[in-house]
Amino acid sequence: MGLKYVMLGSGAVRDNPDRGGPSQILHIDKEVWMFDCGRSASTNLAKAGVGCEVVDRLFLTHLHFDHIVDLPYLVLVGWVKVRKSRLKIYGPRGTKDFVERIIRPPFEQDIQSRLSHGKDIAPLDPEVIEVELEGEFLSTDTYRLSTTSTDHGHIPTLVYRVDTGDHRVVITGDGTPDGNFVNFCKGADLLSIECSGTPEFLAEQPWGAWHIIPADIARIATEAAVKRVMIKHLVIEDITGDKSTPYQMAEQIREGYAGEVIVAEDGLVVEIE
Ligand SMILES: [Zn+2]
Repeated sequence: MGLKYVMLGSGAVRDNPDRGGPSQILHIDKEVWMFDCGRSASTNLAKAGVGCEVVDRLFLTHLHFDHIVDLPYLVLVGWVKVRKSRLKIYGPRGTKDFVERIIRPPFEQDIQSRLSHGKDIAPLDPEVIEVELEGEFLSTDTYRLSTTSTDHGHIPTLVYRVDTGDHRVVITGDGTPDGNFVNFCKGADLLSIECSGTPEFLAEQPWGAWHIIPADIARIATEAAVKRVMIKHLVIEDITGDKSTPYQMAEQIREGYAGEVIVAEDGLVVEIE
């Protein structure tokens, strides 16, 4: 079964007009899965030709705002456009509380006003499933979904792996993985991984230790025999002002990894066949 990966937002915290906040989708079987829902995710989803109301599952890596800030919009527009099935949201501990607090309480006046003209409340509330930091949590005849976790500034942070019979895709949020990560990524067709800065740049940031460095991405991709790597969460250019830095990081990865290295752009598609 072929998969289609679409990068929606290749940026991070800063308000970069050319890079949306972290988000991507995977077309799998007849479903659309979204991973993270950062700034502009819904707009970039529309640009990819997909409506908010047809996203079947949303997987959150962690609850840093840059990865989740578009979630209320995705949910509320999905409600207005009338989703056919309830959105399922997966995420680490704290996701239930976040979703409960971000949809109903702040938008209570809006929700009541729409109900008054006859809108059905049923498609509004997502089903939220909190998943463990490690292990398989969803499996059918066609796919299996597993997580592992990273060290990311004391906030529970997941990495998702999608396995079909013949393909493997690994999608990270942020953070530095542990020794089991090579095994987790073994033979992946695509490793979509954050790459927030060079070691020199990260050393100067108060949050620098929360992120992986290009040389470690190269080592992991090589040891795990990953077929291609996409780097994302390209916040470095927002701070240095140098738009060539993501490409320099890609070169640093190529020094230690012989596979394909892709610098993410919003709207970029990877067909996995
Ligand atoms: Zn983060």
